[in-house]
Amino acid sequence: MRTAIVSVGDELLVGDTVNTNAAWLGERLAARGTTVERVTTVPDRLADIAQVVNESLAAYDAVVVTGGLGPTHDDVTMEGVAAAVGKPLKPHAEASAWLAERGGYAADDGDSRTVELPPGARFLPNDEGVAPGAVVESVYVLPGVPAEMKAMFERVEDEFSGTETHVERVLVDEPESALADRLLELQRRFGVAVGSHPGDGVRVKISAADPETAKEAAEWLRGCADVVGP
Ligand code: ATP
Ligand code: MG
Repeated sequence: MRTAIVSVGDELLVGDTVNTNAAWLGERLAARGTTVERVTTVPDRLADIAQVVNESLAAYDAVVVTGGLGPTHDDVTMEGVAAAVGKPLKPHAEASAWLAERGGYAADDGDSRTVELPPGARFLPNDEGVAPGAVVESVYVLPGVPAEMKAMFERVEDEFSGTETHVERVLVDEPESALADRLLELQRRFGVAVGSHPGDGVRVKISAADPETAKEAAEWLRGCADVVGP
């Protein structure tokens, strides 16, 4: 399954908040064998959200959107997602009942914005907060607050599928340029995916569907490089 993540929030674009949601989702989805092929960060602006969600929906099997679900004027994500699929927002009976029972802000002050979803959407309860999420076609709309986002994602996680990959890691104390030929050979010989991440040494990431193949490839590299760690 190929997916895209859309992160919504002005604060992400100016660096006030680090986009840990996309990193966490990328890791969780990759662990399931679901590939994340694009992460786009957009401001809290309806037209931008609608455009990116619409494009992502056309190009990927599923889209995960986070942020901008609350009741304030700057929370326009659900409106943007509705526009992306060409639907209006309508009060959602199940979401309204859930929020009334929970005693959230919308129930208290009569503001019904957060319980309006596009018709046909599947409502997702928020176990850690009050803004409901939703599945709109194959767009998963989750809150921005990390704890809320994680709890809600775990409710739908099983809907993301793929072929699990096995990962082996090797830390090499050589310049990346010196290692280039061996990394190419590693890829050719074992048919594995090879990631090369320089920094403090070169962190080599070897991925394969078959655990034995990944292990054999890692062993081969360990035998011909200046290895300092996993
Ligand atoms: P609320 O109902 O609280 O308004 P929300 O879904 O509208 O929730 P946002 O208003 O977008 O969420 O963000 C709430 C908080 O969550 C922000 O203060 C921000 O710091 C944090 N947050 C939002 N998006 C991300 C992200 N991608 N990574 C990490 N933290 C985030
Ligand atoms: Mg908000």
